[in-house]
Amino acid sequence: MQRRQFIRGLGGVVAGTALSAPHVVSAKTTHRWKMVTAWPKNFPGLGTGANRLAERITRMSGGRIRVKVYGAGELVPAFEAFDAVSRGTAQMGHAGPYYWKGKGEVFQFFSAVPFGFTPQEVNAWLYHGGGMDLWRRLYADFNLVPAAAGNTGTQMAGWFRKEINSVADLKGLKMRIPGLGGEVLRRAGGTPVNIPGGELFTALQSGAIDATEWVGPYNDLAFGLYKAAKYYYYPGWHEPGSVIECFINKKAFDALPKDLQHIVLTACQAANLDMLAEMTARNQQALETLVTKHGVQVKPLPDDVLKKLKSLAAEVVAEIAAGDPFARQVYDSYRGFHRQVSAWSAIAEQAFMRARSL
Ligand code: CA
Repeated sequence: MQRRQFIRGLGGVVAGTALSAPHVVSAKTTHRWKMVTAWPKNFPGLGTGANRLAERITRMSGGRIRVKVYGAGELVPAFEAFDAVSRGTAQMGHAGPYYWKGKGEVFQFFSAVPFGFTPQEVNAWLYHGGGMDLWRRLYADFNLVPAAAGNTGTQMAGWFRKEINSVADLKGLKMRIPGLGGEVLRRAGGTPVNIPGGELFTALQSGAIDATEWVGPYNDLAFGLYKAAKYYYYPGWHEPGSVIECFINKKAFDALPKDLQHIVLTACQAANLDMLAEMTARNQQALETLVTKHGVQVKPLPDDVLKKLKSLAAEVVAEIAAGDPFARQVYDSYRGFHRQVSAWSAIAEQAFMRARSL
């Protein structure tokens, strides 16, 4: 007998699940899990971060969970990872929450908010500020358990084929920029598109897009984006500290004994720390290579452009909150924490960074 369970949710996802006998899990049971990702296989930082998470789970569990990692397109395309895990085709996924904005604008709060949290601040919100509870509630409607499993660090604003000297230069600009940043660009007169990382270079080189953001020097160098555009702008106003996620099929998670559940979630927390450390360590080396070896021109976005983007970002975020009660709750939590933590960051990191540069 089969029973269809309709999962309530923003995107109206339907999961067909066959009823099975109650699980009898012995300590010796081996759980063979598939992890689908939104990254090219072994891609530096993101793909390798997924690999290390899988390895860590396997080792920490003494082989009781064995995780096999699939790059984008190997089992499912990059942007189908969420649905694949939701319906149980794979047990885990590794991607970015803003890729699922088609299911609800609120997803984007768990990736990055333009002019929002730094990596340190977003971890504070998730782990000690109520963010994780909200994220779990959102994903439960899709039969998923979420976890932060990486952070890109503060990103770069992106690669541009022409200089950006004023807000007017954003008009008509066709740029790959996902999430809330994309909506901000649209309001500034540009045309945002989202395409998977693996297709960026060709799109930029062929002129199908005028600009693209991806992550930071380490990841951008690996895609060779410098060969397709000369100007590399900063700062990553749109993604000041993007969360990379792991999502786990809830039925697969619930079938684990408690110690293995704890291992999976703790491995994600370790992966979160590890990816940020790797990105931080590699970005400066890659930036030096881009500048000295490839003649890339690294430029700051003008202040008036940043101010305009910041005011548009506030509009975009407030409108999302106005459209849906759950988004309002997430927005209120995010905004309240942001207000509090920025006051602290201003006299901690920010004041210290200033002091260090005197
Ligand atoms: Ca990005």
